[in-house]
Amino acid sequence: MFEHIQAAPADPILGLNDAYKSDLNPNKINLGVGVYKDEQGNTPILKAVKQAEERLLTQEKTKSYLSIEGAPAYRSAVQKLLFGNDHNIINKQLAQTAHTPGGTGALRVAAEFIKKHLPEATIWVSNPTWANHQSVFQSVGLEVGSYAYYDAKNKSLDFEAMLASLSQIPEGDVVLFHGCCHNPTGIDPTPEQWYQLAKLSSKQGFLPLFDFAYQGFGQSLNDDAKGLRTFLEHVPEMLIANSFSKNFGLYNERVGALTIICETAEQAETAFTQVKRCIRTNYSNPPSHGSAIVAEILNDPELYALWESELKDMRIRIHEMRSLFVNTLRVKGVSQDFSFISQQQGMFSFSGLTPDQVTQLRKDYGIYIVGSGRISVAGLTHDNMEPLCSAIAEI
Ligand code: PLP
Repeated sequence: MFEHIQAAPADPILGLNDAYKSDLNPNKINLGVGVYKDEQGNTPILKAVKQAEERLLTQEKTKSYLSIEGAPAYRSAVQKLLFGNDHNIINKQLAQTAHTPGGTGALRVAAEFIKKHLPEATIWVSNPTWANHQSVFQSVGLEVGSYAYYDAKNKSLDFEAMLASLSQIPEGDVVLFHGCCHNPTGIDPTPEQWYQLAKLSSKQGFLPLFDFAYQGFGQSLNDDAKGLRTFLEHVPEMLIANSFSKNFGLYNERVGALTIICETAEQAETAFTQVKRCIRTNYSNPPSHGSAIVAEILNDPELYALWESELKDMRIRIHEMRSLFVNTLRVKGVSQDFSFISQQQGMFSFSGLTPDQVTQLRKDYGIYIVGSGRISVAGLTHDNMEPLCSAIAEI
């Protein structure tokens, strides 16, 4: 029965990671997958995470199932982080949050929920967007469209074109926004532009779905939530898919959440029963360990402060690598202007390298970059900067 099955194409990002692992070049460099690396090229476990785990190990009394939506301490901590303490949305119970396996799990549950309850909706994603968005939404049969975002010529946000695209999107459709640290471009709207987008969303009547996978990697935990919080002031309904893979370094624990916001507490409660139904028929209930770590940290002032400072260190290291990359390319005699890279934020940069250059870097130098030219800046270190920039200068 399986003999007719054709091989699926390799995942553009995780497939690249597999190719990197099997490359025997001792000087290989991986700038593909979006995973934070420290100066030694390791993806460390945060100290706050280790300390929380030690506590959990002594305190944990059962491995019994969590409820479909996850643990209450986690769910309320997520809302405080998204909206800020004492936000109206929390006090009026307008939001309901479910713990999902990572941000991808949240997007997938959101996709099923949309398909079931807004079956006519098209979902609109930015051009370009994270490589998995389209597949996740298409996998439940949703129509996926794209709106203008990136100005390739000027390496900036084409805000006029973005507004023009979004002005065509009708009531009842869904628009996905990257909450901060846009993947893959590293370019976000300014606070004033977020305001205009929120007003437009309210005028057009489309449903915003925020994908918030990098809170704390841009400016700060609160600054990065500005776009999302601006929307809250203008639109009554929203979906938020957030991830703790990056900002807690909990990649393999699969910790994320889907939050639904409605106009009234009753509507939120009712709609949430349908979110839970999507979960029950998918993975039934979430894995506990990662969310227990996050809840322990977010609900303890000491661990929270430690985590926040570790997150700041990661953010600062990435910012420094951006400047060093731009300067080293200049020193190596690269005439092309790469200064835009130091203005972008988050883990990624759209480098402007062409697919041919990306292929040559991989073949001749063992440097792994996604075909679109997206560089995971978090993979840059003082050690790999020289060989990387020399290789780019040569090609
Ligand atoms: N959304 C965006 C924009 C991402 O970049 C990622 C991860 O790379 C995710 C969602 C998924 O995150 P997770 O690994 O928690 O599933």
